[in-house]
Amino acid sequence: MKFPPTLPGIYIDSQWSSGPQALTVTNPASEQVLTHVAGADGVTAERAVSAAQQAFPRWSTTTGAERAVFLRAIARGVEAQRERLVQVQATNNGKPVSEAAIDVDDVIGTFDYYAQLAEGLDARQDAPIELPTADFAARVRREPCGVVGLIVPWNFPMVTTAWKLAPALAAGCCVVLKPSEVTPLAELELAAIIASSGLPAGVFNLVCGTGVEVGTVLSGHPGIAKVSFTGSNAVGVQVMQRAAESIKGVSLELGGKSSLLVMADADLDLAVELACGGGYFNAGQMCSATSRVLVAAPLYERFVERLKARAEAVKVGDPFEPGTEMGALVNLAQYQRVLGHVQKGLAAGAKLLCGGARPAELAVGYYLQPTVFTDVPLDSALWREEVFGPVLCVRAFIDEAQAIELANDSDYGLVASVVSADAATGERVANALQAGLVWLNAPQVIFPQTAWGGYKQSSLGRELGPWGLQAFQEIKHVVRAV
Ligand code: NAD
Repeated sequence: MKFPPTLPGIYIDSQWSSGPQALTVTNPASEQVLTHVAGADGVTAERAVSAAQQAFPRWSTTTGAERAVFLRAIARGVEAQRERLVQVQATNNGKPVSEAAIDVDDVIGTFDYYAQLAEGLDARQDAPIELPTADFAARVRREPCGVVGLIVPWNFPMVTTAWKLAPALAAGCCVVLKPSEVTPLAELELAAIIASSGLPAGVFNLVCGTGVEVGTVLSGHPGIAKVSFTGSNAVGVQVMQRAAESIKGVSLELGGKSSLLVMADADLDLAVELACGGGYFNAGQMCSATSRVLVAAPLYERFVERLKARAEAVKVGDPFEPGTEMGALVNLAQYQRVLGHVQKGLAAGAKLLCGGARPAELAVGYYLQPTVFTDVPLDSALWREEVFGPVLCVRAFIDEAQAIELANDSDYGLVASVVSADAATGERVANALQAGLVWLNAPQVIFPQTAWGGYKQSSLGRELGPWGLQAFQEIKHVVRAV
């Protein structure tokens, strides 16, 4: 795809402008510079907050049905631009077009879902509350919490944005969005779609820039009521610390070290497919990657043999080539980080079953082979830390109790997958796992109706579903003497 050499990276009060930051945007499949985005400094970020503050009194008093009209217009705008957005995602992120298409469809589904929830808000507003006395009457209102700052990462750029932006707008909040400086192109396209939806000026503002320049302003600004952040734990802690200074609300979606449990009665072919999906989708750059694969001892040898064969058969390469199953990692820094994890794993004594290097036929692009380790020490970084790359660690377990113990032995608790022919086993194991979402015999399907988020250090709060909307609402009770 061709982009102008420099794109304006700021959209405030319905006006596009350029800032002093030259963000270099690359194509990870070719390692070539795609364009530069002229992003904002801190002063510009503050201007975006002011614009949102000015728009808030009016937008916050619109009805849910009025807001739904804009959400549906955005969904239709994304739908109309579907092919272009797929191409932009694949070009900037390195993911295969088949995966980029899933992303775009998710965005459409999310805006439509929150349009529907917004339409239902009016009927539920001012609902009476039953009290244990006839002397008082009470009603409850849900009101938008204010101006919100949305900070998103690079792995599913437009998707993480939609999961925050759609419910925030549905609730009646005004927004300042900061995309990842690594992948701002999809959000710039989305901003153009929003601009043509007729959304009132100042309700949605986008400020490209670095975390240090723009992210810190959004997480610390007293005019922002809530920050919704998706990214690494290290930055999540910083966001929370800055937010604490003005006691602002914080939602965090952070890292993961999730497990796929292959129970003794599992269908092996299904288990291998789910292991590859959970490990290699988006080149493993998923907070929900099931990078620990726990296999019942009687199946272990056969499973490992089949997994190796399947991993070695994964078609790695050009995101635009039909049949590509795994594209490039997002940039050089991430590529080197993942290779560093591979080296640390080897140094810790883990056994490399396959992969661990650049595919021989791909000299250019941040490509890695699908990788499988066995015999990974339980106290090693490879077993305990998020790799965020196409690396699976496989381990045998003796019984169900040990499988659950191994899966739960983590600082994280985002998701888990269970493969079992027995429905009761699957349900029982799912209930015992410390994870916000458990898939049983299923790939990592995500529906906007179901919650997203996890236990322990993976998350604070939940996105999607009605919980995602409530994250942007305040509760007000009005109690009167009768
Ligand atoms: P990151 O933490 O480096 O950056 C995320 C965002 O925060 C970017 O927009 C970045 O510019 C901004 N930022 C950086 N420093 C900041 C600061 N000091 N203050 C405020 N903002 C700042 O993460 P990343 O490398 O872009 O993404 C990968 C991470 O995201 C992984 O750890 C992954 O697990 C996590 N993630 C989690 C989920 C989830 O739903 N739980 C989803 C996707 C990604």
